[in-house]
Amino acid sequence: MQIKKSKKTELAKVLEGGFEFKILHTDTTTRARVGLCKTAHGMFETPVFMPVATQGTVKALSPRDLNDIGTEIILANAYHLYIRPGIDIIKQFHGLHHFMGWPGPILTDSGGYQVFSLSRLRRISEEGVCFASYFDGDEIFLTPEKVIEIQEAMDSDIAMVFDDCPLPTKDRKRIKESLGLTLRWSERAKRRHRLRSQALFGIVQGGIFEDLRRESLEKTVEMDFDGYALGGLCVGEPKEDTLRILDTIMPAMPEAKPRYLMGVGTPLDFLEAIERGADLFDCVNPTRYGRNGTAFTRSGLIVVRNGKYQRDPEPIDSACGCYTCRHFSRAYLRHLLNAGEMLGPQLLSFHNVYFFVNFVKTIRDKIQQGKFSDFKKDFMNHFDPDCR
Ligand SMILES: [Zn+2]
Repeated sequence: MQIKKSKKTELAKVLEGGFEFKILHTDTTTRARVGLCKTAHGMFETPVFMPVATQGTVKALSPRDLNDIGTEIILANAYHLYIRPGIDIIKQFHGLHHFMGWPGPILTDSGGYQVFSLSRLRRISEEGVCFASYFDGDEIFLTPEKVIEIQEAMDSDIAMVFDDCPLPTKDRKRIKESLGLTLRWSERAKRRHRLRSQALFGIVQGGIFEDLRRESLEKTVEMDFDGYALGGLCVGEPKEDTLRILDTIMPAMPEAKPRYLMGVGTPLDFLEAIERGADLFDCVNPTRYGRNGTAFTRSGLIVVRNGKYQRDPEPIDSACGCYTCRHFSRAYLRHLLNAGEMLGPQLLSFHNVYFFVNFVKTIRDKIQQGKFSDFKKDFMNHFDPDCR
């Protein structure tokens, strides 16, 4: 599929100035809010859940499925797509939207987290990071500028700065050093970023240290990004630490800019974070759990593989309106999983992504109706975080 360049240039002109964010409604009793984001490839409302398309596909789901689910924006990973198929191929298709057949908004993750968590690191320096490709072992050198160029070539709607993403640690010195490096890299990314139709978000680090988080936020905000992300949270630290950091940092984040809590998490995490003013979320949980045969429901997690569902004629969740729940029993889904049929993980992933996307949409409606706190209380009373 070759897209004519002239048409694309025309579109870019109409959308010049590209990204906008507006608060539509703020809750009166909490910091929860409903917003509207305009991007070069369409609008979406917040709070919003972004299904994760690491390799340019939300695992087991087609763009048609995503559309049926009501997905408004997806997240793709610049790091993985840079390694394979490579930026030249995506450029030939004038960007990731055309390459993967998803016309709506895309946020690209810069790959900081992947470089530091998945790769065999060779060297971190002021200039950038040198590591071995997980694909063929080749040595790759990424700089903050290079990561911007990659995301611009992908033509994503929201790009992220490249950040030093240390493994969770109580080592204050390590966090402080990393924070300084991320700030200097953020400045370089901001300087290199040219694509006006693309928003660029800064990333706030600082681990579980309130003063370091504040310092990171203040200096990142000084650089004036289109939005701000919180990185390095819900990565294994105790829940009290996560909430303490959210309580400290969220009120200090600019009201008028979107706030993105990276890589989080579960329905309960969404409620806590939205209550404190978070707007964007992404997480691999719905598809990862779906592939393993576990489904999210309003009352908790269901392990569809369990023997007790062998003859169960009920859908995963009788109140769910998704294709899977409207057509298939737990018994059939369990059979598919046990028989190793592809359709099993597909149908479960469909349900889970539907659940996440629409759960956050429901929260949005509840905020607008002034019923968020009641909804949160009620959901938490009925949701069992243990698997059944
Ligand atoms: Zn369902």
